[in-house]
Amino acid sequence: MQIVCLDLEGVLVPEIWIAFAERTGIPELRRTTRDEPDYDKLMKYRLNILAEHKLGLPDIQEVIASLGPMEGAREFIDWLRERFQVVILSDTFYEFAEPLMRQLGWPTLLCHRLEADADGMLVNYHLRMPDQKRAAVKAFKELNFRVIAAGDSYNDTAMLGEAHAGILFHPPENVVREFPQFPVVRDYDAFRQAILDASARIGE
Ligand SMILES: [Mg+2]
Repeated sequence: MQIVCLDLEGVLVPEIWIAFAERTGIPELRRTTRDEPDYDKLMKYRLNILAEHKLGLPDIQEVIASLGPMEGAREFIDWLRERFQVVILSDTFYEFAEPLMRQLGWPTLLCHRLEADADGMLVNYHLRMPDQKRAAVKAFKELNFRVIAAGDSYNDTAMLGEAHAGILFHPPENVVREFPQFPVVRDYDAFRQAILDASARIGE
């Protein structure tokens, strides 16, 4: 039995915070963990900026819906789900991902949660657990699945390493250099082939 674990942002949809910052013209929201390594500080900062701009969850979801998935992502995920069990493992939040998951046909998503007040303003965030991508792959292995994992970035390399086969999709060059053990693909056609190759290699 095989299962495919996919990262979301950079694989099926754009980087949500960055695309949101561009669409709304709020450059402060481009700040990432590269600029502020303390994730809690970064998230509190982001939630404050959203509140300052009076952007509640419905406004945010409307903008995110307009971003849409990456071109070809829907066809890719439909193709994949016909052939494998598929679970998306992401460090985003259900409330942000929802408008994009609708456009992807509601595949299974394991991620985190935001908390809004009665007016829809975001007041807090809740990480389900730390290092959840790797933990999920490890748990699927304990359930006797053979696991193929794919992602685009540093925060995916632990789950790629834990899986029976890992694939990098459209990664930045520094990740390619640092993790030469993983095959690299840059479009969905090559991605489909890499998954079929991995599937044949890892056994039932
Ligand atoms: Mg990603």
